[in-house]
Amino acid sequence: MSPSKAASRTTTKQSLVPLATLIGRELRSEKLEKPLLIHGQAALAKKGEDFFLIQTDCERVPGDPSSAFSVFGIFDGHNGNSAAIYTKEHLLDNVVSAIPQGATRDEWLQALPRALVAGFVKTDIEFQQKGETSGTTVTFVIIDGWTITVGSVGDSRCILDTQGGVVSLLTVDHRLEENVEERERVTASGGEVGRLNVFGGNEVGPLRCWPGGLCLSRSIGDTDVGEYIVPIPHVKQVKLSNAGGRLIIASDGIWDILSSDMAAKACRGLSAELAAKLVVKEALRTKGLKDDTTCVVVDIVPSDHLTLAPTPKKKQNTFTAFLSKKKDTDTNKNGNKLSSVGVEELFEEGSAMLADRLGKDVPSNTETGLLKCAVCQIDQSPSEVVSSNEAAAIISSTSKRWEGPFLCTICKKKKDAMEGKRPSKGSVTTT
Ligand SMILES: [Zn+2]
Repeated sequence: MSPSKAASRTTTKQSLVPLATLIGRELRSEKLEKPLLIHGQAALAKKGEDFFLIQTDCERVPGDPSSAFSVFGIFDGHNGNSAAIYTKEHLLDNVVSAIPQGATRDEWLQALPRALVAGFVKTDIEFQQKGETSGTTVTFVIIDGWTITVGSVGDSRCILDTQGGVVSLLTVDHRLEENVEERERVTASGGEVGRLNVFGGNEVGPLRCWPGGLCLSRSIGDTDVGEYIVPIPHVKQVKLSNAGGRLIIASDGIWDILSSDMAAKACRGLSAELAAKLVVKEALRTKGLKDDTTCVVVDIVPSDHLTLAPTPKKKQNTFTAFLSKKKDTDTNKNGNKLSSVGVEELFEEGSAMLADRLGKDVPSNTETGLLKCAVCQIDQSPSEVVSSNEAAAIISSTSKRWEGPFLCTICKKKKDAMEGKRPSKGSVTTT
């Protein structure tokens, strides 16, 4: 072997080593980048209408474990449990099928808020077609890496507790009593909002929507209630810093008793499993078992940590103590302030108008020349579309022309009904 050849071999070998190291580093950093999820759950049933979903083996790309994501959900049913069960079984599929196939991870995450809207509305339409009258709240949490996306209707909350001790709400309470905007929307769409009248004309209880008497302004199901009780979710998407955080997802059985801050503080330092049990126990201890009570706790932690480190309390230096105190004060003033705690807010939208939520994409032409509905993903032929547009024009002749993406006949009718442009199903019409 000539010296020059030996030298060149050495050079080749040397250039291979850094490459292997690079790949190794890449793999390690990917491992570090993906957090570990540790979850716990606890429930007490009174009526048997609360359901939860924990699915940690979902894949964006079927068959590719590196595309894994997790889903956690709470469904608090009313007037029966069928809407809660139906939603638990079908919502995830309906959301995922609204995301364009072949999307990269970033595209997938960006498409998620819209897909949640489509999936919620599709699930509602499908359930209502069964003709059953029950309804359900939905708090649906999708975790991919450090990114958390929450879609919700009703009053089952999801809160986020981060390392600095800052508690923020990732949902909005769709309760007529507390939500002025929703009250105005329901009234403007033809609903009546008032309290229950008892003998003697005394008004009691929280504000409800009539007909139906529901205290919520959004839900899935509720076929016999006016269609201004919409299934369009509030959606919030945040990205955690790699310090991690804890999610507490629970039905109103908890939130009627504990504030977000109280629930978070009560279980700090405990494992997810014990935390969920403690939150339920705390609610029971305070008020007794008045309602179904369900709690799911998810710790999102760096994969090299086994448990979420408890928020430092006593043993800390003065400087840290000062910082923690300051952050605590911030929480009290503004519970939703996320930027100060290393949580990046990526998306938030709560409008009940489909036009605001589905974007303005031109109708998507498939290879077959059919049009795909942006809500239910069903293909419709252009000839059917012409007639459906005519029908829609008759139904909502006073409304502005729809400028959103293509909707099939059924979903277009649903859209008009939700906006109060068509009498609700329960009422008899002569038009
Ligand atoms: Zn459709």
